[in-house]
Amino acid sequence: MEQKLFVYNTLTRKKEEFKPLNEGHVGMYVCGPTVYSDVHIGNCRTFISFDLIYRYLLHLGYKVRYVRNITDAGHLEGDSDEGEDKVSKKAKIAQLEPMEIVQKYTVDFHKVMVTFNALPPSIEPTATGHIIEQIELVKSILEKGYAYEVNGSVYFDVEKYNQSQDYGILNGRKLEDMLNNTRSLGGQTEKHGKLDFALWIKAKPEHLMQWPSPWGLGFPGWHLECSAMSNKYLGHQFDIHGGGIDLMPTHHTNEIAQNVACCGKNPASYWLHTNMLTMNGQKMSKSLGNSFLPHELFAGDHPLLKKGYSPMAVRFFFMQASYRSTVDFSNDAIEAAEIFYKKLAESAKKLVTLQQNELTTIDEETNKAINDICDDCYHSMNDNFNSPKTLDALNNLSKGINSYTANTRNSGEISVDTFERMKKTYNDFFYDVLGLKQDDNENADTDDLMNLVIKLRNEAKTNKDYATSDKIREGLKNIGFQLNDNKQGTTDWVRI
Ligand SMILES: [Zn+2]
Repeated sequence: MEQKLFVYNTLTRKKEEFKPLNEGHVGMYVCGPTVYSDVHIGNCRTFISFDLIYRYLLHLGYKVRYVRNITDAGHLEGDSDEGEDKVSKKAKIAQLEPMEIVQKYTVDFHKVMVTFNALPPSIEPTATGHIIEQIELVKSILEKGYAYEVNGSVYFDVEKYNQSQDYGILNGRKLEDMLNNTRSLGGQTEKHGKLDFALWIKAKPEHLMQWPSPWGLGFPGWHLECSAMSNKYLGHQFDIHGGGIDLMPTHHTNEIAQNVACCGKNPASYWLHTNMLTMNGQKMSKSLGNSFLPHELFAGDHPLLKKGYSPMAVRFFFMQASYRSTVDFSNDAIEAAEIFYKKLAESAKKLVTLQQNELTTIDEETNKAINDICDDCYHSMNDNFNSPKTLDALNNLSKGINSYTANTRNSGEISVDTFERMKKTYNDFFYDVLGLKQDDNENADTDDLMNLVIKLRNEAKTNKDYATSDKIREGLKNIGFQLNDNKQGTTDWVRI
């Protein structure tokens, strides 16, 4: 079957056939997390979406170099060069070294990604590990005349750049509109223009993370690291650049400007953006109290959650929408996803023992229908990674598998090739492409043991012995088991 993959490119605002720069190879850069706090569930959705894309490219046989950075310096509280460095601020509050903060949240982030069965990227470079490359990039942009130094800081000159280039090429906006919609510089007298952004920022003496540079002690601007690291690991031009849609208007726009200024090229052929996660129709945010952390979601430990949901049910739920659509989180929607996931997971389990009956007369219509559904799995993924349609196709395939395992139909009615293709396609898509797996609590011994522990803990709670019940809960959490509490007490658990 001929594979033509189409992707929606934010840069051209249309769906285009995917043609990598080097046949058989794909270079992909995705903006990673800023590791100063627990990873937000909305960010998890972005990384799960790119995991799906990565997995499908691998499945198609591409050799993929997937680079996803860790921002461990330079990301200020305000995205336009204001406020404190997020990592430094947290370090001061917690009275820890910035690198202790970075280490803790990087490890936690990796754990969450493993829980969601996301594959690790090929390279995960850090901003602090690439200060030299970033300084070199600033020097090059200065040499080309697109930046200026003021009092130890270096700024990108957006208006000068826009004289020969299109600064709004990605966000589709005219420079005048952007200037009109940006507040005036006010006290920030160092910048020449309202849209200018920092490449290098002079550090105040109390700033915890600072490095020597030709312009004195300072630290890199946030947008710089992605240009420096994508250049280093993927070259001046590569295939896919991705991230959350919130990064597109400023962070990615500035990344393109930096790359074009230093190297004359827009770094990526295809710019892919994932959409937001909302809660009951509202934007998720800490201040509204409607956002939760992955472990709260797994444990049902939040006033807005009816119960805990397994990581695979959550992953499945995310994939029920295209990565470009918003996903609205509600208990009803995720419960429906959980049921659907379990149904498809059951069919995947049955593949292991499913054997074909002796051939009878081939039912051409059924034979064709099953091959068509297998094709649908590919067609839907080839249509800009349309995971909801792929899940529909997989659901149709599961109906065939279930009828053959239940012997309500005779599997001898389809050819050997079709039977094997049905099994292989289902297996490949469920496990490898969609990245689903069986929920871990299928181990009978562990189930029995956990049921005993839960019973003892419920007894402790009934006796108002909360010290013991908390000790059990914490102890289990430390060894990777999270109890799901609900109104009936504790009935369920997940591995974390
Ligand atoms: Zn980035």
